[in-house]
Amino acid sequence: MAESAESDVVVVGAGPAGCAVACHLRAAGLAVTVLEKAVFPREKVCGDGLTPRAVRELDLLGLDFSSWKRNVGLRIWAGRPYPYLLPWPELKDFPPLGLTRRRADLDQSLADHALGLGATVLQGVAVTGPILDASGRVIGVRAKDGRRFLAPVTVAADGGSARLALALGLERRPDRPLGVAVRAYFQSPRSDEDWIESWLELWDGPPGRSHLLPGYGWVFPLGDGRCNVGLGLTDTSPAFGRTDYRQLLRRWLASTPPQWGFTPDGQEGEIGSGALPLGFNRPPEYSRGLVLVGDAAGLVSPFNGEGVSYALESGRLAAGHIADALAAGAGSAAAERALAAYPRSLRARWGRHFQLGNGFLRLIGRPEIMRLSSRWLLPLPGVATLVHRALANLTDQRPGDVYDYLIHALRRLTPSA
Ligand SMILES: Cc1cc2nc3c(=O)[nH]c(=O)nc-3n(C[C@H](O)[C@H](O)[C@H](O)COP(=O)(O)OP(=O)(O)OC[C@H]3O[C@@H](n4cnc5c(N)ncnc54)[C@H](O)[C@@H]3O)c2cc1C
Repeated sequence: MAESAESDVVVVGAGPAGCAVACHLRAAGLAVTVLEKAVFPREKVCGDGLTPRAVRELDLLGLDFSSWKRNVGLRIWAGRPYPYLLPWPELKDFPPLGLTRRRADLDQSLADHALGLGATVLQGVAVTGPILDASGRVIGVRAKDGRRFLAPVTVAADGGSARLALALGLERRPDRPLGVAVRAYFQSPRSDEDWIESWLELWDGPPGRSHLLPGYGWVFPLGDGRCNVGLGLTDTSPAFGRTDYRQLLRRWLASTPPQWGFTPDGQEGEIGSGALPLGFNRPPEYSRGLVLVGDAAGLVSPFNGEGVSYALESGRLAAGHIADALAAGAGSAAAERALAAYPRSLRARWGRHFQLGNGFLRLIGRPEIMRLSSRWLLPLPGVATLVHRALANLTDQRPGDVYDYLIHALRRLTPSA
C-alpha cells in the first residue's frame, strides 16, 4: 500500500498562487500541504515586474520586501521620440509603489514565508494526477514517487500547464486569447533606474524607417546590475505562432543603444519563453473538490500580461472560500456552496475588467489601430493616465477621482468574462 498523508488542504504548486493560498489558509488555522515539483531556488521565466496590485498582496501576506528594488511608475514609449512618464497613482486601495524581484528569489521568499507560517512545503514532489472517489470527486493527489496526499479540498496552483484541471476535463476556452512572452537578463547600466518601461512599438532599426515588429516590449531594472528585458504577443496578432520569438527579441534589442548593454555580450543565460493564459480561460474555477488559482485558472490580465498579482489575490480569495467551507464541515452542503461561490467572487472582482481586456486585445491585434491610437489618442490630455490606470487595474473600489469614475463606467457597460 502506498504511503498516504492527510491534511485539511493539499496545494499543488508553490508559485505565487500556491504559496498565497497556503499562507492565508495557515492564517485561518488550517493544516496545509504544498507539493512542488521543483527545488528552490528555481528559475521561472517571467518579467519579474510587480505592480502596486502585487505589492498590496505581498503586504497582506506580511512579507518583508523593504530591501527589494522599488519603482515609482511606468515609462511608456509609444509613437513619439520621448516617453510618457506615468507614476503609480495615489489611491486609497493600493500603495503608490512597484517592485521588481527575480522570480527565483520571489518564489523562494514566498515558499519560506508559507513554511514559516506552519505550512508543510515539500519540494521535489511531482504530482501526476488527482485521486478521485467513487463519485468522481477529488480527494487528493498522487505523486510520481507513489505517495498519496489526501484532503477534503485540493488546490490546483500548478501554473499554465493546468495538469490537474485537465485531468478533470477542464479544457482551455478556445474563445479566450492566449499570449506568449520571452525574456532575457542583461548586465546593464540602466539597472538602478526608478521606472519600469513598456514599449508599445518595436522597431528593428530607426523608428518609422525600419520594420515594425509584432508585440510589445519591456525593460524592468532589477537593481542588481541587471535588467529583465522581454516582449510578448498574443494570438490576436497575425504573427502569433508563425514567428521565432527569440529572434524577434534579438532584432528589437539590436536596435537599442549599445551602451544600454542589451547585447549578446551583456546577456546572462538563455532567452526563456512561456505561455500567458489570459482572461479567465479555464472555467469553472471550482469543480468536484478542486479549486483553481493563478495561471491554472487562466488569470493573467489580457491588458498587460500581469499574472503575479492575480495569482496572489486569487490565492487569497480561494483561501477565504476554503476556510468557510471547512468551517461549515467538509462534505456538507454548506461547504459545497462556499466552494461553488469562489468562481462568482473571482468574476465580481475581475470579470468585467478581463472581458474588457479580451476586447482590447482584439482591437490592438490590428497594428493600424494600435498605431493610430498611439499617434493620436495617447497624446491627448489625460488619456495616457487613463490608459495606464485602466490597463494596470488601479482604481479605488469607491471611486476617488475622474479616472476611477470613467473606468468604473466603462466596466459597467461590459459583460463579465
Ligand atoms: C515571459 C513572461 C513574462 C512575464 N512577466 C510578468 C511580469 O513581469 N509580471 C507579472 O505579474 N506576471 C508576469 N508573467 C506572468 C506570471 O509569470 C504568471 O502569471 C505567474 O507565474 C503565475 O503564478 P502561478 O503561481 O499561478 O504559477 P507558476 O508561477 O507557474 O507556479 C506554478 C508552480 O507549480 C509547480 N508545478 C507545476 N506542475 C506541478 C506538478 N505536477 N507537481 C508539483 N508542482 C508542479 C511549478 O514548478 C511551479 O513552481 C510573465 C509570464 C511570462 C511567460
